[in-house]
Parts: sequence; structure tokens; C-alpha cells
Amino acid sequence: MALVVQKYGGTSVGDADRIRAVAEHVARTKAGGDDVVVVVSAMGKFTDDLIRLAEEIAPRHAPRERDMLLTAGERISMALVSMALGGVGVDSASFTGSQAGIITDTDHTRAKILEMRPDRIREALDAGLVPVVAGFQGVSTERDITTLGRGGSDVTAVALAAALKADVCEIYTDVTGVFSADPRVAPKARRLARVSFDEMMEMAATGSRVLMLRSVEFARRHHVTLHVRSSFTWEPGTWIVEEDPTMEEAIVTAITDDTSEAKVTVGGVPDRPGVAAQLFRQLADHKINVDMIVQNTSANGTTDISFTVPKTDLESALGACEVVRDNIGAATLSSDAGIGRVSLVGAGMKSSPGVTALMFETLADKGINIEMISTSSIRISCVVRAEKVVEAVRALHSAFGLDAA
Ligand code: ADP
Ligand code: ASP
Ligand code: MG
Repeated sequence: MALVVQKYGGTSVGDADRIRAVAEHVARTKAGGDDVVVVVSAMGKFTDDLIRLAEEIAPRHAPRERDMLLTAGERISMALVSMALGGVGVDSASFTGSQAGIITDTDHTRAKILEMRPDRIREALDAGLVPVVAGFQGVSTERDITTLGRGGSDVTAVALAAALKADVCEIYTDVTGVFSADPRVAPKARRLARVSFDEMMEMAATGSRVLMLRSVEFARRHHVTLHVRSSFTWEPGTWIVEEDPTMEEAIVTAITDDTSEAKVTVGGVPDRPGVAAQLFRQLADHKINVDMIVQNTSANGTTDISFTVPKTDLESALGACEVVRDNIGAATLSSDAGIGRVSLVGAGMKSSPGVTALMFETLADKGINIEMISTSSIRISCVVRAEKVVEAVRALHSAFGLDAA
């Protein structure tokens, strides 16, 4: 008998029929002899609707209240799924993140899990129930309700799987697994049977939202087996695995795209030690996740520094830059929200010269200008105009031989 954590995303619990289909699948899994813990997201786009409502009522609102509001979405799902389970003869009980013992820090809207105390979930399992846990939320060390960041139900599922020592964490979603590109962007994308943790982390970090980055990091650290699969077809999907050293690595495994970031440029910065440190310290103190950074070569003793940040952090990043602008003696400050990023990810890249050249040639053939570049040992990212991203992904997908036959 195995213990399976099953996480169902927004589309998977999007309406009454989908919720009943989930309950039937849980019942089948139980009938097969396994114990199940269910983690649910808010129904459909309910979280987006709540955010819109909050912004309409008060564009600047307290993060504590935002978290209190958003966690309501997952509460609705957990109760409905639990009711649906009752309807198919499976005994269950729903739990909020707080009741499930998910203890976080106090960083509202992007809280990190500090500790797991899933005693009530264990008790429910021991009593033969299927616990249904609201994803995306916890309770802080100050006893306030927190959320784990967008897409955070994936983290809830992995953290519970780790704490309960589950045999597998199944992430049910609206596609049949992890693909060689977002199948909505590249119709010729192929499903991958296995993806290494390293590659999945790079994919998640560069825009493939099928798994939230933190859930992949958490799963690797705690040795949680992840299986991404469809709640529509229920067929086997993609396994996220430790790299097998005997495996021949694909040079390029996937192409990712991301239009959620904006570029900030601080111009006319004096080119002397300590200046960049001041700037990025200020950004760090504002809890802004800076991604790509480019510094131009110095001319006349000054230079330009550009970096990308999530669009949701742009206003706060500009505020932070203004604070240091006068201190460091920078001349200009500007931003650009019209950028997009395309990335190649592949573990075999580290031993294959020529990947970068082919990437740049492919973009050049399409007349797509590259504005920033960054690399890791298994990734190359280019910033281009946002409206060119779809064309770039499709062209790269073909150029690197990833198109499905
Ligand atoms: P859920 O609500 O189930 O968490 P998400 O919308 O967060 O679902 O993630 C699933 C979506 O991720 C898919 O519908 C797909 O468009 C997108 N996606 C982006 N990149 C990929 C990829 N490489 N493989 C699969 N899906 C991807
Ligand atoms: N409902 C939350 C969101 O939309 C969390 C999740 O779906 O994982 O971000
Ligand atoms: Mg998701």
C-alpha cells in the first residue's frame, strides 16, 4: 500500500463536473489499495478574480488582508471536493493550510514554509479518511494567514509529500505532462517522459509554470518523487527524476518563454567599486527578485546597468532605485515592460559547442533582435521584444529538432 499525494490545479477543479471527476479518481486510487492526501487549488481563475476585486476596491491594500482574501479560493475547493468524495462513498475531511500544520514566515503574499506539523493529516489518514488540504496557504509564526506565492499549491503538495514521506506526489493539471515547450505556444511540442530536476528547475525559473519553481527545489531537497499528469485523460505523464549518469543527455530538452518580467535601466552610473553593491542591496532590502543583469562597458567613467524584475515588482523596484540614484550619482532611470524572454534548457548543452551560435542564427533569420543574454551551464536565455516571443519559441523548437513528427 502506497501513500499518494494528489494535487489538483485550478482547471482540474474548475466546475462541478471536474470536481466530481476528481472525486471519482480519488475513489479509484483508494479502491486500488493506496492512501491518498488531496491538495486543491482555487477553482478555475478564481484567484485572479479575487485579485481584480481587491485592486478595484483598494489598489494599495495591506498584504495581510490580500492573503486572507486569496486563501478563500482554496477553502471553497477543499470543501466542495470533500463533499464530492462523500458523494462517491469516500470518507474525507477538509483542512486549511493552517489546520494542516503548514507554518510559514511572515512575508505575506510570498511566504516560505518554515516547518511542517501535519499531525491532523496523519490522524485523518489513520482514521481511514482522505484529507483534502487547501493549497497555497499556511499560518505564520505571528499566527496570521499567509500565501505561498502564485502557483503555490504545488509547494503545499510537495511539502506534505515530504513531511508524510509519501511514495509519490502527483501534480494533476490541464496538460498531459511536461512538454518540450508550452503546448499552447508551440503546437508541435512533445511530451517528455522524464525530466531531470536540474532541467525542471531551469524550466520553472524561466517561465514554464506547469510546476512552481519552489516546489521543484523542495522536491529535490527532500527526495520527493514528482509525477506531472492530466486530470482529463488520467494517462501517465512526466516523471521528474535525478539525472541518471548512464543516460545520454539531450542537448536541448525544452524551450521556455516568459513575458512576466520588465527591464529596469539605471543610466550614467559612475564606474567605481561599491556602486552596484549599493543598488542591489537596496533592491534586496525591498525583497525584489532580480533576474538577469547586464552592465555595459564603461565610457567616460560611467556605465549603464540593466536588470529584469517581475512586472509585479516593477513599481517597488523603481522606488528602490530612486532611493539610491542620488547616492550613487546615476543620471537616468527608465523601465521597459515590453520585453519577453526565450530560453533553451538542456543538460547536454554543457558538452556541446555550437548551441549558442544556432540559437542566435535562428533568431537572426527571423529578424528578432536580442536585447540581453544570460546563461547557466544548462540554459541560454535571450531577452527579445514581447511580441516576438511566440515566433521565437516556434523557430527554436524546429531548429533544435524538437518538433513532434
Ligand atoms: P494548474 O492550475 O493545474 O496549476 P498551471 O496553469 O499552473 O495549471 O500550469 C499548467 C500550464 O502550464 C499548462 O496549461 C501550460 O499552458 C503551461 N506550460 C508552460 N510550459 C509548459 C511545458 N513546458 N509543459 C507543459 N505545460 C506548460
Ligand atoms: N490559486 C493560487 C494561484 O492561482 C495557487 C495555485 O493555483 O497554485 O496562484
Ligand atoms: Mg500551477
